[in-house]
Amino acid sequence: MAPRIGWRRGVFLLSLLSSVALSQAPPRRQFSIVVYDAAGIGTKTLERTEHFGEVILSASGLPSIWSAGKASDLASLGTDFTARTTRECLVGPIPPVLRVRVLRTAPPGVAPQTLGFSLPCARAGVPVTIYADHAATVSQAGGPTFCRVLAYAIVHELGHVLLRSEAHEASGLMKAIWSKGDWQRAAVSFISFTPVDVRRIVAFDQPVANGNIAP
Ligand SMILES: [Zn+2]
Repeated sequence: MAPRIGWRRGVFLLSLLSSVALSQAPPRRQFSIVVYDAAGIGTKTLERTEHFGEVILSASGLPSIWSAGKASDLASLGTDFTARTTRECLVGPIPPVLRVRVLRTAPPGVAPQTLGFSLPCARAGVPVTIYADHAATVSQAGGPTFCRVLAYAIVHELGHVLLRSEAHEASGLMKAIWSKGDWQRAAVSFISFTPVDVRRIVAFDQPVANGNIAP
């Protein structure tokens, strides 16, 4: 099921930037993230989005390098919808490059609060897709700036890829449905992964030995 980030009034639980998260040991490498602008949002908007994305990950102690890819490359990159078992998914390495495509509009029938989807077990292609029109709606409805909403949507979906899971949590970046209060806080501070998520991400980024998998 496509993960969602959206509005839900009355839900205010949120884990803001945590000093605990900042104290996590850094991963072994910087994550390389390439964003493909298939929506025509423009270079400046994309650069600001990438900047916010880098800051959001950094707030969790996860260094990253962001760059823009050529939208014309998307056709050859494709998407990997191959079904895999949980174990096959968990033992595979994190791809050296994490690719994100930003589409202009969501397909018909996709709920307005759905900002994108991810393929956590994909081993090739583009595992993260974001819908620019839905992100714009969240921003225009009193949320953070468009770039900031896009960045949160991207990092949330990347979180699924880094955690190898479609699961959501009650608070933090991996919360499924963001309330108006969540978005208001996201506009003035940087919401991070929970310390548990950071530990899992860092563990996945370690070399696999003897078939061990991350906790
Ligand atoms: Zn999600």
